[in-house]
Amino acid sequence: MQFWQLLQDNMMLALTVFGLLGLCVGSFLNVVIHRTPLIMMKEWRAGIVEILGLQEDIPANLKQPIADIIAKDTPTSLSRPPSRCPHCGHFIKWYENFPLVSWLALRGKCSSCHTPISIRYPLVELATALLSVLVIWEFGVTAQGLAGLALVWTLIALTGIDFDTQLLPDRLVYPLGGLGLAVNSYSLFVSPTQSIWGLIIGFLCLWIVAKLFMLLMKKEGMGHGDFKLLGVLGAWLGPMALPFSILCSSLLGSVVGVILMKRAGESKPFAFGPYIAMAGVVALLYGNDIMGWYLGMYS
Ligand SMILES: [Zn+2]
Repeated sequence: MQFWQLLQDNMMLALTVFGLLGLCVGSFLNVVIHRTPLIMMKEWRAGIVEILGLQEDIPANLKQPIADIIAKDTPTSLSRPPSRCPHCGHFIKWYENFPLVSWLALRGKCSSCHTPISIRYPLVELATALLSVLVIWEFGVTAQGLAGLALVWTLIALTGIDFDTQLLPDRLVYPLGGLGLAVNSYSLFVSPTQSIWGLIIGFLCLWIVAKLFMLLMKKEGMGHGDFKLLGVLGAWLGPMALPFSILCSSLLGSVVGVILMKRAGESKPFAFGPYIAMAGVVALLYGNDIMGWYLGMYS
């Protein structure tokens, strides 16, 4: 408890400790971003065999080869198998796995085959560290600060996964929503009532937009994960944070969308989740300041 007290009394020490912790968490988030879609894919593949087994109109000689392929899948979890270079299969040694430092020491290359390691890994670590520092700076070493870290860290993981795969996994989104309701049952960020209505309104407003789009354009315009994620932000920050979150994510999304479209020259499926997540981080850190400034302009 004494260390805790020391952190609360000494802001510089707290920022350093949580910055370093953020680097390590960022390193773990890289694993989460990379492996969660792989784990989900393997579970879906295993599910296919089960479903095929129940379909009586599919002959056994068609089911068996698929079952054989899937039986050979190596089990994957967040901790197993150990990390390897995707290019040469070199097992990454413990001293090559220090956040940020190792990437710099290796000059961004695999120590065995010298294939470049994506700059995204150190960037995720750095971003996690910086955002952790900002959260502690804003909320201090308090229950609010720690809950804020949980929110921001999960949003970083969701951003990376959605960016790569256009998926916002329920296994991360649902617990995050539940945690938002839980922390606000103690009125940590907003009152319990605001938290519940934030969840409902956040989910419904994008859901309605998506259904209207579907009716008018006859195609899917938005992933279901997007409205769940906005509902999660509502549960954490209340309904008042939603207009800002929607505005901010649309702005960010359209700017990046236009740049991407110019570069790719065609409209690829576009992940909106990262922008909702980023808007959520801004709303958590500066939502009240921005709202105050905005309302101040009119009074
Ligand atoms: Zn290699």
